Amino acid sequence: MTDTVVDRFLRYVVIDTQSDPKSPAQPSTEKQQNLGRVLVAELQAIGLSDAHGDEHGYVYATIPSNVDKPVPVICFCSHMDTAPDFTGTNVKPQIIQDYKGGDIQLSGDPQQIIRVSDNPALRDQVGNDIITTDGTTLLGADDKAGLAEIMTAAQVLVDNPDIRHGTIKILFTPDEEIGRGVDKVDLGKLGAAFAYTVDGETAGHIEDETFSADGVEITIQGVAIHPGFAKGKMENAAKIAGTILSRLPKDAAPETTAGREGFVHPTGVTGSMERAVLNFIVRDFDDEGLAAKETMLETLVKGVMAEYPGSSCTFEIKQQYRNMKAILDRHPQLVENAIEAIRRAGMEPVRGSIRGGTDGSRLSFMGLPCPNIFAGGHAFHSPLEWISRQDMEKAVKTLVELAKIWEERA
Ligand SMILES: [Zn+2]
Repeated sequence: MTDTVVDRFLRYVVIDTQSDPKSPAQPSTEKQQNLGRVLVAELQAIGLSDAHGDEHGYVYATIPSNVDKPVPVICFCSHMDTAPDFTGTNVKPQIIQDYKGGDIQLSGDPQQIIRVSDNPALRDQVGNDIITTDGTTLLGADDKAGLAEIMTAAQVLVDNPDIRHGTIKILFTPDEEIGRGVDKVDLGKLGAAFAYTVDGETAGHIEDETFSADGVEITIQGVAIHPGFAKGKMENAAKIAGTILSRLPKDAAPETTAGREGFVHPTGVTGSMERAVLNFIVRDFDDEGLAAKETMLETLVKGVMAEYPGSSCTFEIKQQYRNMKAILDRHPQLVENAIEAIRRAGMEPVRGSIRGGTDGSRLSFMGLPCPNIFAGGHAFHSPLEWISRQDMEKAVKTLVELAKIWEERA
């Protein structure tokens, strides 16, 4: 008996792998290695003898080519950590066999209801088997679905030598959710020409565009003085920070934008009378749009600071990641092959853009062009996360077809 994609998925989601943005270590949490060790053991059991983990939390393995002709080496990649937004401790997956439609109430917390109105994709799932949590944790389909799908595809390729394919590399990364998923990856050792992250949402989707992303940190130095003697002198840094926030444009926020619109979003504010720090993320699909939003923010800050002549501030921009489309457009076969694989796996391909980043956007700029293929999960980073068995099976099929297509077209 071989494991199904669901068997694997259920095994991985109960291992807590939440990453921690406050930890300077890599992996940021030692517990991610618990899953890494399981994955290495399973890869070796499949027959991938070079499978190994390293001290930074990465897992590497190779499915050797079974043809004589040269085929570009491709890599399938997914991440092992789950988001810091919601707890991943003690996940209790629930399976709804043969979903009949309608809202899904979660058994562990009656407040938690997966509503069709919030999840229109549920309408396409009638008759499928849906996996959720009990409502007290996230599920971790992001991206343990990707792990289970890549693992299962690897098993299919190894067990069926009649399926012709080139060398396929497997890469599982830690700390994607905190933006450090590829910090310590060894691309030389990986030795792939192209890669696919299996970390997207709806079945049939492929994404070749991400946001371009920067962080901005604004530090305000106010004029602190005993409040009893403050008249005409005090400049309260906490209030200056509040003024800046109140003047942000309402139409360039995550809650008011969609599609290809970018935004400026305060992610944190700490402060006292003396000193306040504002953290922002800035997002846009092109670099000019990103720069324009940063200029707008800086101008706004200068305008506020001009009202407080005794105070000062610093404005620091940190590059986070860039839209990978510029790189992927140079290698059109990468997306074309994936579109064909999705079609052969029985779906209508949908090409899209991600309002966020993936490991793939950074990998693309590090020299490993890397679009993102669906993994099938929905409502990421929340206790309402769900995925269906059938969509995971479609992802497995897509990966197997993709391996074949690269060989056929080489
Ligand atoms: Zn993910």
